[in-house]
Amino acid sequence: CGIVGYVGTRDAFPLIIKGLKRLEYRGYDSAGIALLNGDMTIFKKAGKVIELEKVVEEGKTHATIGIGHTRWATHGEPNDRNAHPHVSQSGNLAIIHNGIIENYAPIKEELIKRGYEFKSDTDTEVLVNLIEEVQKKENTTLDHAVRIALNEVVGAYAIAVLNRNNPDQLIAARKGSPLVIGVGENELFIASDASPIIEYTKNVIYLDDKEYAVVNRDGSYAIRTLGNVEKSPEIKKLEFS
Ligand code: GLU
Repeated sequence: CGIVGYVGTRDAFPLIIKGLKRLEYRGYDSAGIALLNGDMTIFKKAGKVIELEKVVEEGKTHATIGIGHTRWATHGEPNDRNAHPHVSQSGNLAIIHNGIIENYAPIKEELIKRGYEFKSDTDTEVLVNLIEEVQKKENTTLDHAVRIALNEVVGAYAIAVLNRNNPDQLIAARKGSPLVIGVGENELFIASDASPIIEYTKNVIYLDDKEYAVVNRDGSYAIRTLGNVEKSPEIKKLEFS
């Protein structure tokens, strides 16, 4: 039930693991992480973050961009296969998702007709393949494909998407589930709440409902509504408690 994302100059793996531990209080049954380091590297495991750390292969964790997830299963039992991140058919996109895609079944059926194969029982894997299919069909940028795909789904979500073809960018969106963006100097953070971020920056943007964000390695970002209206978000200061 938690999301952490990072792009910048720091070592992403320990930062994301630490962030997931900060979100443990929200409860979860599985955990996983995706990193870009030349290729896409994914580790996921049913159980606690400490179990995830046990399956991590040494020498494969060096990266400055990545996403991490703790799962509270709603569709598909809590096992390694259903743990997030989920990867699109082509292997280019990895997604993490908190929430429920209510109309996943008809979308899945349609995607299967178009040749997609599914490796998990989750609603989330349907969403990542829908995004891939939309991007192919509309021949557009990933952020617009995410927006178009999200307009086709019914449900509640906070998501983060990692793109093998763009190791300098993360895309995040929310509807009904919280999402915070931490704005650092030449680095950006994404998280379900500020607890994984506060150690690194006090500057945050609380993404509004039905908005999505594109965050870049150089510290720049753009936020739009799912209706494609550009927003100029307010940066809030986190306070020590
Ligand atoms: N519906 C998704 C799943 O069951 C996400 C659950 C969550 O919020 O962690 O995999």
